[in-house]
Amino acid sequence: MVSFITYIHQFQLGDIVTHKSFKDLTTLKIGGQIKCLYMPHTLDHLIQAMKYILEKQLPYFIIGKGSNILASDEPFESIVISLEYLNRIVELKPGVFQVEAGVTGAYLATHLSKLGYTKMEFLSTIPGSIGGLIYMNAGAYHQEIADLIQEVTYLEDGKLKTYSPKDCQFGYRKSIFQEKQGVIIEAIFGVDKAVLAQLPLEKMITYKKNRKETQPIGQYTAGSTFKNTPTKKAWEVIDTLGLRGYAVHDARISYKHANFLVNENEATFQDMIDLIEFIQQKALHEKHIQLECEWVILR
Ligand SMILES: Cc1cc2nc3c(=O)[nH]c(=O)nc-3n(C[C@H](O)[C@H](O)[C@H](O)COP(=O)(O)OP(=O)(O)OC[C@H]3O[C@@H](n4cnc5c(N)ncnc54)[C@H](O)[C@@H]3O)c2cc1C
Repeated sequence: MVSFITYIHQFQLGDIVTHKSFKDLTTLKIGGQIKCLYMPHTLDHLIQAMKYILEKQLPYFIIGKGSNILASDEPFESIVISLEYLNRIVELKPGVFQVEAGVTGAYLATHLSKLGYTKMEFLSTIPGSIGGLIYMNAGAYHQEIADLIQEVTYLEDGKLKTYSPKDCQFGYRKSIFQEKQGVIIEAIFGVDKAVLAQLPLEKMITYKKNRKETQPIGQYTAGSTFKNTPTKKAWEVIDTLGLRGYAVHDARISYKHANFLVNENEATFQDMIDLIEFIQQKALHEKHIQLECEWVILR
C-alpha cells in the first residue's frame, strides 16, 4: 500500500486521499476507514497504476457513486479507485455518444435531454456513475441501461478490450462484469432525436415527481434492497410479512417503500446485515420465498 502511494506520487498519476471512509463515499453513510483512495486524472494514469497493482498483486476495489454499496465498519485494506475525473462525453455522430465511466447517469440524461435526445430519461432518477450503472445493469420504468449500449471498453489484465452488448451478458441487475476483475472505462450509447424537443425534459420531471412520492428520497439508503422475484415484487413480499417500518436500531425498513432499507443516522454495518437477514429468513420460513439482496456487500 505504502509503495503504491509512493509510486503514484513519484510518477504524478493522480490524487491519493487517505482520510476518507465509506461513510463519506456511500449513500447509505455506513462503513469504515479507507486506507487509500486513488483518483486517476486520465486514462493513461489509470492504465499505468493498474499495471503496478497487477504486478504487485495488490487488492483493489472500484467505487462509482457508492449508491449500491453496504461496507463493513472495519478499516478497508484494499486500494479504492474512483474514476470521478474520467468524465468526458463525446458525440461521435448524431445520436451516438462516447461516455466515460465517471459521468453520472443523471448528468448524462439531463445533458442529452437538453440536446433534444430521448430514451435516457429514466437514468435521471437512478443515482450512480456510468461504470456502476453498467456493472449493475441499472434500470427503472421498464428500461435498463443495457437497452442503450452499443459497446463497452473494459480494462482487463492491464489491456483495453471492447465488449459488444452480447459480450456484456446483461440480465436483471446483472452483467458479466460482476464475474470479472477489471475496470469499466467507457461506453458508447445510442439515443434517438425526440419528436418534440421539450418532451424528454418533461418526462424527467414526471419521473422525479413520481420518485419523490414513492421513495424515501433524501434519506440514507442504497435503493431497492432485494431483487423482485419472478412472481412477486420484493416490496409486496415484505409488506405481506407485516414488516414495513420494522427496525434493528437505526436500520429501518422505510415506511414509504418497503423494499428500501434506510440508515436513520447511526446504523452500523451489523444492524443493516441483521435487518437484511431477518427479512430473508422470515420470507423463506413464512412464504417460502428466497429474497436475493441486490446491494454489493463489502465485508
Ligand atoms: C435512492 C436510490 C434509488 C435507486 N434506484 C435505483 C433504480 O431505480 N434502479 C436501479 O437499478 N438501481 C437503483 N439504485 C441503486 C444504484 O443507484 C445503482 O445500482 C447504480 O448502478 C450504482 O452505481 P454507482 O456508481 O453508485 O456504483 P457503486 O455503488 O459505487 O458500485 C456498485 C458496483 O459497481 C462496481 N463499479 C462501479 N464502477 C465501476 C467501474 N467503472 N468498473 C467496474 N466496476 C465498477 C463497484 O465495484 C460495485 O461492485 C438506487 C439507489 C439509491 C440510493
